[in-house]
Amino acid sequence: MKEIRIHGRAGQGAITTATLLAQAAFMEGKYALAFPHFGAERMGAPLNAYVRLSQTPIRLRTQITRPDYLLVQDATLLRGFAVTAGLKEGGTAVINDPRLPAALGLHSDAACHIVTVPAGRIAEECIGRADRANTALLGAFAAATGEIGLEALEKVIADRFGARAGEKNIAALRRGYNHVRETPDTSLSATGATAAGQAPAGQGGPPVQLTVGVVARPGTSRKNLTGSWRVADRPQFLHRKCTACDLCALACPEGCIASEGKNNYCPDYDYCKGCGVCVTVCAAGDIIMVPEENGQPCIPGQPPASPREGVE
Ligand code: SF4
Ligand code: SF4
Repeated sequence: MKEIRIHGRAGQGAITTATLLAQAAFMEGKYALAFPHFGAERMGAPLNAYVRLSQTPIRLRTQITRPDYLLVQDATLLRGFAVTAGLKEGGTAVINDPRLPAALGLHSDAACHIVTVPAGRIAEECIGRADRANTALLGAFAAATGEIGLEALEKVIADRFGARAGEKNIAALRRGYNHVRETPDTSLSATGATAAGQAPAGQGGPPVQLTVGVVARPGTSRKNLTGSWRVADRPQFLHRKCTACDLCALACPEGCIASEGKNNYCPDYDYCKGCGVCVTVCAAGDIIMVPEENGQPCIPGQPPASPREGVE
């Protein structure tokens, strides 16, 4: 049995990715299972979807903690999440990002193979929406792992999306596939990844043991690092005109703003999800949203070293 864990954000189609992959495998004659795992959260919240593929009936219904493969729909998920945790030795991670793995701080080695593909850019060019990267990512997955054939994927995509959208998504699928096949730095030759057509492990082997899976334990919201939800912007507290009205701290849905008097308000970026509510309620205009990469540390009582141009 092969297990695939998909990391995405609500609204990016992670569940569709899982479903398409499972349907394509089913079409190729395998047993397949696809299911999501998410809480009652908003668009953009990180979530997982899981796929199991096997030549024999699949009885396991647990979340996947030791995947053979990872599909990462948004490289911002690498920030604050142990996305590659549990990836089996010899496994492959396929990540939607235009940069090479080394630029993400990841390296292929004997233990795992990291493949990046500009799936968002491909989706923008083929479909007109960069946030519809799942079909390009599936193409990259097919090329990198050999676990699924393009023909089956094309068929389920055509069935799912209809003629016009299907055509665009199939174009994205093929571009993702070709990118991995043709880009030396992300080729599968470095890894010994499963060759196309190879019988999946487990066929004719010992029965699947039901001893793996997840034991849920009580947790707290402190463990839920909602700072990982920030995709583009973060609040920058300017510490210049703060009146200590306390509204930002009261309004913050994460309750993550420490309030200690004028010009001393700071968010905890581990939990700040970048919603911008604090900016909206601050009548003094002492909080602005800035691109994530321009964000500066928030130090109580100190204005940021170089506030954004145009801000006093
Ligand atoms: S953007 Fe502001 S209100 Fe929203 S979570 Fe961050 S600190 Fe709280
Ligand atoms: S809302 Fe603005 S003025 Fe009020 S405490 Fe927060 S930063 Fe200060």
